[in-house]
Amino acid sequence: MNATTEDRDESAQPATPARNAEELAMQRCKRCQLLYTANKSTSALKLTYCSFLCELGDLGFSMQGLEHMERVPKTAVATTEVVEVEEPEFSASGAII
Ligand SMILES: [Zn+2]
Repeated sequence: MNATTEDRDESAQPATPARNAEELAMQRCKRCQLLYTANKSTSALKLTYCSFLCELGDLGFSMQGLEHMERVPKTAVATTEVVEVEEPEFSASGAII
């Protein structure tokens, strides 16, 4: 048993440097290089594009559109699960033979 337990390294980390909330929220659009407020961006990628149009123009598609597209495979996954359930049964019957 050690009498000296020096676990005092948990010094409080200095808070993030105080900045203007607005300045902190300002982002530079990847496409049009304009400074914009992320909170007011209509893009799904608020930290990358100033607006939905810049996102659409740069990516060629919108993230919101992608999100909708991702919902379709989720249904397909449910169907795949049913197929996976059948697999063990198939291999089990194969083991009998
Ligand atoms: Zn832009």
